[in-house]
Amino acid sequence: MKYFILFGPPGAGKGTQAKLMADKYNLHHVSTGDLLRKEIAKGTELGLRAKSLIEGGNLVDDSIVIAMIENEIGSHPEVNGFLFDGFPRTLEQAGSLEEMLDKRGQSIDKVISFIIDDDLVCRRIQNRANIEGRKDDADMNTIRNRIDTYHRKTEPLIEYYKQKNKYHEINGEGKIEEIFDCVCKLLD
Ligand code: ADP
Repeated sequence: MKYFILFGPPGAGKGTQAKLMADKYNLHHVSTGDLLRKEIAKGTELGLRAKSLIEGGNLVDDSIVIAMIENEIGSHPEVNGFLFDGFPRTLEQAGSLEEMLDKRGQSIDKVISFIIDDDLVCRRIQNRANIEGRKDDADMNTIRNRIDTYHRKTEPLIEYYKQKNKYHEINGEGKIEEIFDCVCKLLD
């Protein structure tokens, strides 16, 4: 079983690349954002808690997303591997993921990081608001908080994975197909 992490700020194109990669390499795409939005749509207790945090541009509790990931990796023996999109987002989450995989005698193969400027991120998210209708994409303060949260809580993971020699960067500002070509070169 292979494990890949897609890394980068909100709006970097992780979800778009994840879908292409999942198809080509038979990987199970795990988006914690999508999983949380499903809980919100179902109106579960967990969804209720996540809703206000997400709409304010804040992270959902580590314990919640970690439990979701544990559940996912235990339930897809048919795939070649897993593709994490939007996880881990904190050092705590990264540590838990490592422990989870360790117990299975497995580990992360590669972290693929999309490099993109904050201004472009902002424009992409605003554009996506009209397409996907996500509340957290429609409000400028929420967008700013998400970008700020990324810099404060998620960016420290770059050093964490660099030290493990797992960190790879790709320019996230090009065309979807160009970026996918770079991703494939890394995976092939
Ligand atoms: P984006 O990449 O555009 O931020 P996501 O769908 O990945 O979109 O995430 C949407 C929101 O869901 C985040 O702003 C955050 O509130 C919550 N979320 C998603 N993944 C995590 C995570 N690993 N840890 C904590 N909160 C998360």
